[in-house]
Amino acid sequence: SNELVYNPLTEITAIKLVKKLSLFDENEVLTCREIGDGNLNLVFQIVNDQTNKSLIVKQALPYAKVVGESWPLSLNRAKIESDALQIFAKYVPQYVPKVFYSDDTLAVTIMEDLSHLQISRAGLISGKQYPLLSQHVGEFLAHILFYTSDFAIEPEKKKQLVKQFVNPDLCNITEDLVFTDPFFDHDTNDFEEGLRKEVEALWNDQAVKLEAAKLKKKFLTNSDALIHGDLHTGSIFADDATTKVIDPEFAFYGPLGFDLGQFVANLLLNALSLSEEKQGFLYDHIEKTWHVFETTFTKLWKKDSIEAFSKTEGYLQHVLTQTWQDAIGFAGCEVIRRTIGLAHVADLDGISNEQARLTAKRRALLLGRQLLLHQETLSPKDLKELVQKTV
Ligand code: ADP
Ligand code: MG
Ligand code: MG
Ligand code: MG
Repeated sequence: SNELVYNPLTEITAIKLVKKLSLFDENEVLTCREIGDGNLNLVFQIVNDQTNKSLIVKQALPYAKVVGESWPLSLNRAKIESDALQIFAKYVPQYVPKVFYSDDTLAVTIMEDLSHLQISRAGLISGKQYPLLSQHVGEFLAHILFYTSDFAIEPEKKKQLVKQFVNPDLCNITEDLVFTDPFFDHDTNDFEEGLRKEVEALWNDQAVKLEAAKLKKKFLTNSDALIHGDLHTGSIFADDATTKVIDPEFAFYGPLGFDLGQFVANLLLNALSLSEEKQGFLYDHIEKTWHVFETTFTKLWKKDSIEAFSKTEGYLQHVLTQTWQDAIGFAGCEVIRRTIGLAHVADLDGISNEQARLTAKRRALLLGRQLLLHQETLSPKDLKELVQKTV
């Protein structure tokens, strides 16, 4: 469909598009609503109310809405997103939405409607526990990371994939907003005046800033595997039985620990919004995510790794240990940037009592600094105590 030209879709032209593509018949009566809550994309839900058949049309915009049209962003991220979803589907189709159609020129991905599930951040905030969330995320990550890495594919093929997923605009967002700006007095930062003392303490903490700089270098240079790149709880649909990962527009070849770190960080941010006696299941989720990741990655390694690596004794353990330590560091950056950076989380911002909210955010800043300073010694089961010591 190269004859199409890019234009932001409307509810009317989105319906025209899905009919033209024969995803619905010409005579079907359809309703279409824009349901996107992001700042970078349009998301349309198109439904036939008679048959209940529905679809999602996601389209990238050529700029970030958060700062008006002054922050241009490459439309190529739509291709990155649909390509990543299709690669993930080769290994773990149960954990991603089906892609029905994509077009690079229109910057469109048409996919399965997951509205019967809930965005897990919203569910966690409303008290849901999602008993299988960590099992599923651990399996998802072990598969996508192992099977796109040099451990499983030939070097030449891997280098082609690295090229296919070069994603400079979206990586630049992460480089700035996760690894740099929150650690300096930068104008993208956003925090309550009541946190200024703690924020200035962070800006003066040279040891913490050094760790953030080292992690930024890993993010810039470690082309380990095709990572999701934005795996917070707002990128995961769930119910008690099902988990679906969406929104891999930040995907690129990056460090093995990054997605794990972002996911863990967002569970920790949710824990900080709950009273101590209600947090337990979140630490169980963190431990289980790591346990499932480690055992699944090991199983896949034994089954499918290419020789060069699998023959060296101790090498798998080295990879796993480094992945966890990096994940802890990336989690530290994520906790900090979600507290004082440009993009916040509803888990903390939604605490309506001002004193309680400031307390939770002070604890988040302390927690983030501790994670950054103790990457080499914190095990999954240490995180509960670490959070509780920030009181
Ligand atoms: P963005 O990249 O702009 O954050 P997302 O892919 O995260 O876009 O989608 C934004 C919102 O649109 C989601 O939070 C969800 O409410 C809705 N959405 C996205 N994909 C789907 C889908 N496959 N099924 C149902 N709703 C979806
Ligand atoms: Mg930059
Ligand atoms: Mg999103
Ligand atoms: Mg997105």
